[in-house]
Amino acid sequence: MIATQSLERIVVTRDPAQTRALAAALAAAARPGDLISLIGDLGAGKTQFAKGFGAGLGITDTIVSPSFVLMAEYRGRLPLFHVDLYRLADAAEALAGGLIDERQAEGVTIVEWAERLADAMPAERLDVLIDGAGDDPRRITIRPGEAGYARYLERVPAVVEKADPRVIRVTRAPEPTPEAGR
Ligand code: ADP
Ligand code: MG
Repeated sequence: MIATQSLERIVVTRDPAQTRALAAALAAAARPGDLISLIGDLGAGKTQFAKGFGAGLGITDTIVSPSFVLMAEYRGRLPLFHVDLYRLADAAEALAGGLIDERQAEGVTIVEWAERLADAMPAERLDVLIDGAGDDPRRITIRPGEAGYARYLERVPAVVEKADPRVIRVTRAPEPTPEAGR
């Protein structure tokens, strides 16, 4: 019998450095072709998450919000394609703008305001939902849209330390306990 897996993990971060550190830890699970949707209100911390994820991929360039271009590309262990759909009127416009192209198969695509694509967003993805605003803590839900993305859950640190993502030390979450009666 296969042990049941929890379908999502929730992490609370108390400042932007913790959000970046969480994202940097998750980046260790990244594989070519991955798609990550960042969902949360303006100022929730989506760009902070993208910055940390990029640092975790070894990107040394500064990641900024690509508000005036559809997609920005960065070079790291894997290429990172950072998309921001904030200014888009609708999904059709995004797709017409070439949101998904072949180059992305080689890297990780991280999409802010992914919910604007609705059903046009492939189901095979990792959802990162960020709740909270201002100086309040953020409640960050890591939710695989499909079993292949469950590997990200294994990288969620048990304790998110306030640290520069490049020198992050994370405490690994305990291994899931085997089901009784296995
Ligand atoms: P978004 O891309 O979702 O619009 P940003 O990442 O650009 O949001 O901005 C998030 C803002 O919230 C930043 O000013 C950041 O300093 C602040 N902030 C405060 N606490 C947190 C936290 N725990 N995680 C992320 N950002 C936080
Ligand atoms: Mg942003």
